[in-house]
Amino acid sequence: MKCKILDGKATSAAIRSEIKDKVETIVKNGGRRPSLVAILVGNNPASRTYVANKEKACAEAGFASEVKRLSENITEEELLSLICSINKDTNIDGLIVQLPLPKHIDEHKVIAAINPIKDVDGFHPVSAGRMMLGEDTFLPATPMGIMTLLERYEIDTKGKHCVVLGRSNIVGRPMANLLSRKGTPGDCTVTICHSRTKDIASYTKTADIIVAAIGIPLFLKEDMVKEGVVVIDVGINSVEDNTRKSGYRLVGDVDYDSVAPKCSYITPVPGGVGPMTIASLLQNTLKAYEAKAL
Ligand code: NAD
Repeated sequence: MKCKILDGKATSAAIRSEIKDKVETIVKNGGRRPSLVAILVGNNPASRTYVANKEKACAEAGFASEVKRLSENITEEELLSLICSINKDTNIDGLIVQLPLPKHIDEHKVIAAINPIKDVDGFHPVSAGRMMLGEDTFLPATPMGIMTLLERYEIDTKGKHCVVLGRSNIVGRPMANLLSRKGTPGDCTVTICHSRTKDIASYTKTADIIVAAIGIPLFLKEDMVKEGVVVIDVGINSVEDNTRKSGYRLVGDVDYDSVAPKCSYITPVPGGVGPMTIASLLQNTLKAYEAKAL
């Protein structure tokens, strides 16, 4: 089977260029730029990289953006108070708090403090609830990006068996919800597998579509998938690689080299889901801006 690449990098670039054009038109007509504030607490290297990438993407799209870098030792009260002041600032459209937060801060409380009209990460309980009900809302960026990728590549999902590996609130669960929704893409029959699932291969072998989001390097192997499967690899795992100058390389949750020959479509890592996540964040921020402009 000839496997086709679902090129998240190119698709994301196309979406970001569409957004940039829209912003240029807004600004040309005297409007203000859409704006995003990201809060980064502490010095987690992965979080710093993610936030830097988001900041760069915002600048390229013509958004105004700011990163509030806070000390690891900030109190929960101080963080909540900052969120409260950003909620009130009418010039700020979107607010994201980079996760994970230090242990002494209650993540749920912090997310719940964000005004849902600025919740461009789609993590607020109101956004999650609306998504569950199929109402218009901010969708979490990673599953949203995957839906966009499936849509733009016109992958047939109707009536297909989709196995989602992982049940996190930011990827696995919302992914399963969106794929099982009525619509295109959607209308899948979805199975969620997680850390307590017995014999995962018995599910993945019957899957037409697999979304792997568990955070275990190269977990999905060739003998776990059937011929013609569509594989979406969400995992971003750093593994030791002494052939690289950095001493490491990034791999997904899928053993790409052995699995790809059996696939009809597959996302690479890097260059698959990651760039789509950023594109979705920009789309959500523009949506927040436009909702306010109405
Ligand atoms: P998480 O740690 O919150 O959740 C992992 C999930 O995997 C859990 O639901 C758990 O039940 C399941 N799991 C763990 N071990 C398992 C096993 N042996 N078999 C089956 N299921 C198992 O992770 P997350 O935040 O959902 O992220 C998952 C992966 O996706 C990570 O590698 C993360 O870095 C990556 N990620 C990538 C993007 C992106 O933009 N590409 C965005 C978010 C997360």
